[in-house]
Amino acid sequence: MKKRRDTDKAHAAVGDMPAHKDQAMTDCIFCKIARGEIPAKKVYEDDEILGFHDINPQASVHFMLIPKKHIASLADAGVDDAPVLGRMLAMSGRLAREQGSAEGFRAIINTGRIGRQDVMHLHMHIIGGAQPLGRMLPASHG
Ligand code: AMP
Ligand code: ZN
Repeated sequence: MKKRRDTDKAHAAVGDMPAHKDQAMTDCIFCKIARGEIPAKKVYEDDEILGFHDINPQASVHFMLIPKKHIASLADAGVDDAPVLGRMLAMSGRLAREQGSAEGFRAIINTGRIGRQDVMHLHMHIIGGAQPLGRMLPASHG
């Protein structure tokens, strides 16, 4: 029989999670919100997904949808994550309407250094309100 390594035991505590991901989940601000360790103004919650208002809103409607599972960024998502990501997309319209964005909104997933992602836990911003938003990107985006 294959001998278990010590690291295998450590991983067993959180499924097959590698140690660096375990650490990321401990420190991650959105994991802390998902675990209820940091307060947030929730707009939606189920077993896999949490929606909450952005602490620094960029428009009259600005909330976030996150998978409760720690996925660092969209660039780190895999095919196994498709169901939860699909549900986040599929529920965004209903939640945006409920929050007061009846005629559309913008869904943004900033990703990695190039996408200027600040919080390294995949999140989809839902931004809208009663007035049309500004352009998607400034004419010059240096
Ligand atoms: P991003 O640049 O896409 O990583 O955006 C991170 C977003 O998280 C920013 O819009 C922040 O205002 C927001 N944010 C950071 N901390 C919190 C928090 N504790 N509760 C709600 N939103 C937060
Ligand atoms: Zn996290």
